Amino acid sequence: MLKDRFNRTIKYLRISVTDRCNLSCCYCLVHKEFVKIPREEILSFEEITEIVRNAAELGITKVRLTGGEPLCRKNIEKLIYNIRQIDAIKELVLTTNGVLLKKYAKKLKDAGLDRVNISLDTIDPVLYKQITGSANLNDVLEGIEAAKSVGLKPIKINCVVLLFISDGDREKLKDFCVKNGLELQLIKHMDLTKGNYSREYSGNYDRPPKCSGCNKIRLTADGKIYPCLFSSSFISIKNERSIKEAILKAVSLKEEEGSVFPHMAMASIGG
Ligand code: SAM
Repeated sequence: MLKDRFNRTIKYLRISVTDRCNLSCCYCLVHKEFVKIPREEILSFEEITEIVRNAAELGITKVRLTGGEPLCRKNIEKLIYNIRQIDAIKELVLTTNGVLLKKYAKKLKDAGLDRVNISLDTIDPVLYKQITGSANLNDVLEGIEAAKSVGLKPIKINCVVLLFISDGDREKLKDFCVKNGLELQLIKHMDLTKGNYSREYSGNYDRPPKCSGCNKIRLTADGKIYPCLFSSSFISIKNERSIKEAILKAVSLKEEEGSVFPHMAMASIGG
């Protein structure tokens, strides 16, 4: 079992498979100088699978694929298939903006994915376009239908609570979720320009969870393990003697609570 210094059991690995995204959401890409990871530094599927295998041997049982947009990574279903072969991984999930989901849902399910979280902050098509930069709401709605029809369930909807979206609009999203059997998760908007993290959340949000219950570590697309979303410390697997040593070091770096957001965008760490 993987334990940190505060006796929290770490069993969840969140993997950013790419920092590329097909959207540019207003709350994610807040720094214009966001520099993409050079292509040659991005981990291959074989490397990611080997990391997950080692992580599973240490006690990881849940893996989430995220990004950037994980469906922008070519042949992502091959990675899902590889990870699914690791018996100790009991839960394999993916977070997506849903735009390409209609095309990929069946492939993902067939490869062994358990379920998806889909990011959707509003069901107003104009607002949706405004938030995401360019996307078409209908593509996401069709993606949700496709995920339902192939059985990628339960589907969770990630809604970042933005001040400029009215409560009335959020009620419409809630109704939509109820009608369609979707589980709505309200996410506190983290202001990445300020970078500070406060663990004092009111009861109005489902995410992020309290630090005291944290069970996660994060892997970036170029092989860095972050102990926390709000930590500037990381361990680069490529610089360590072994993958297991890198994971153990990263877990030992976990602080009791996060402090500063060191990234240029959520897309670089995976949200
Ligand atoms: N592209 C995928 C998607 O859109 O779901 C996965 C990556 S995205 C960075 C992962 C999650 O981070 C999404 O649910 C997104 O809403 C959330 N996120 C991004 N920026 C955020 C912010 N500033 N505050 C809170 N959540 C944020």
